[in-house]
Amino acid sequence: MSKILVAGAGHGGLVAAARLAGAGFDVTVIEKGKEGKLGHDWEDGFSFERFFELTGTGYADYPEGSWHANGNMIYYPPNKKAEVTSDYSENSLKVMFRSYILNALINRAVKSGVKFLYETEVLSSLTRGNKVTGLKTDKGDFEADLVIDAAGVFSPVRRSLPDSFGIEKETRTGDVFYAYRAYFDKTREVNPDFPYEMYVYHDGEKGLSWFITDENCCDILIGRVFTLDDGHINELLDEFRREHPWMGEKILHGGTVAPIPVRRALTLMVADGYAAVGDSAFMTTPMNGMGIDLCFDAGEMLAETIIENPDFSASNLWKYNRRYHIECGSGDSKNALLKNALLSLPPEAVDFLFESGIIGRNELMGAGTRVSFASVVEKFFKGIRKPKWFFTLVSGLLKGEKTAKLYAAPPEEYSLPEIEKWSRKISENDIPVKE
Ligand SMILES: Cc1cc2nc3c(=O)[nH]c(=O)nc-3n(C[C@H](O)[C@H](O)[C@H](O)COP(=O)(O)OP(=O)(O)OC[C@H]3O[C@@H](n4cnc5c(N)ncnc54)[C@H](O)[C@@H]3O)c2cc1C
Repeated sequence: MSKILVAGAGHGGLVAAARLAGAGFDVTVIEKGKEGKLGHDWEDGFSFERFFELTGTGYADYPEGSWHANGNMIYYPPNKKAEVTSDYSENSLKVMFRSYILNALINRAVKSGVKFLYETEVLSSLTRGNKVTGLKTDKGDFEADLVIDAAGVFSPVRRSLPDSFGIEKETRTGDVFYAYRAYFDKTREVNPDFPYEMYVYHDGEKGLSWFITDENCCDILIGRVFTLDDGHINELLDEFRREHPWMGEKILHGGTVAPIPVRRALTLMVADGYAAVGDSAFMTTPMNGMGIDLCFDAGEMLAETIIENPDFSASNLWKYNRRYHIECGSGDSKNALLKNALLSLPPEAVDFLFESGIIGRNELMGAGTRVSFASVVEKFFKGIRKPKWFFTLVSGLLKGEKTAKLYAAPPEEYSLPEIEKWSRKISENDIPVKE
């Protein structure tokens, strides 16, 4: 029986593992965390319907307090002078504590026959010639016919692959969003009209923060495209406390910093005996950093490719890689370029985009997916003219369109020279971000 190792209990890896074990493959997940203690201590938004379908669970399986629906949002630019509100009452984002999401995915995988090795740290990939042959861990080496890399944004599996595999290994400035997340106690009852406050370029810094006044706590996220130290986090928390006197001092959940990839997905994410899924392949929507639904999609696509043809060569796995880009990677690559264009603007330009209405309710609610060339040009010709900032934004949109087209048309067959040519064309459009 073919042996598959999944590095890390990432969401996409767990979805693929369950499907593959159910189809008769010998699948083992190697995870550095402790059994029953995986996942960040906070809630994430994603499609509950899809999750229920994948895990065979429903609302009745989740206790009160494990999930809730977010309220309406208000967005502020850096100078906090303008504000844009969003009415999500029809379709509010539901969030669930990460431990429940992972437990349900793990239970499903175990029922399908997946084995788990906890408290085992993957140190690197094992390779022979052009092939990945297994994983090196702190408990010894493990051989496999296929390694699925679900070990997150800084995966040691991806980062230890030989350069000759053609897979991008490292991230650049602006590719990773470092997010501090904590839930503080609430010292008195308040019910704001817009409990979900989003601060774009909070404090004039590249990134965003949110302050959510929940029923029993204050949920805070401070995210930047640079690493955050404790001193700076505390300054920003104090500022939030001054603005929201009901925020207490006691941390109820979270209180740590974690990375989120916010860039276009890896152009090449497979090799002989290797496939990356989820954050290890940078599968998120860059403007909002959401990756769980994309993990579900990618995990299913990978499993379907292998079940259809149990061949672990790069040529066969390329079908998964290709399909992901056509169905998901293309749209998110466009979003990545717009995000980088916005990040290359100074804070006063973001103030202007809010005040002029170039960034309004429609654009913010769609996490940038609804910002179109036509809508920006229309506003420009209505007399809102700040050429330099306008052209930065338009260039982000145009480059985004070009990149998305390229992502939607990857080479038909796996050929490293062809893939490298295609990847190079894509990277020519990139918009670099400075800290
Ligand atoms: C603050 C924050 C808020 C977020 N909010 C949302 C949200 O609301 N909605 C959404 O869709 N997404 C959200 N995301 C993004 C989302 O978490 C990821 O995109 C998603 O989890 C996919 O990542 P993954 O499962 O591939 O990897 P990860 O979640 O990073 O999981 C990787 C797993 O591999 C294990 N691992 C890592 N290294 C090793 C090693 N060397 N050896 C063995 N095991 C290892 C880890 O312990 C972990 O279990 C958020 C992220 C952060 C940080």
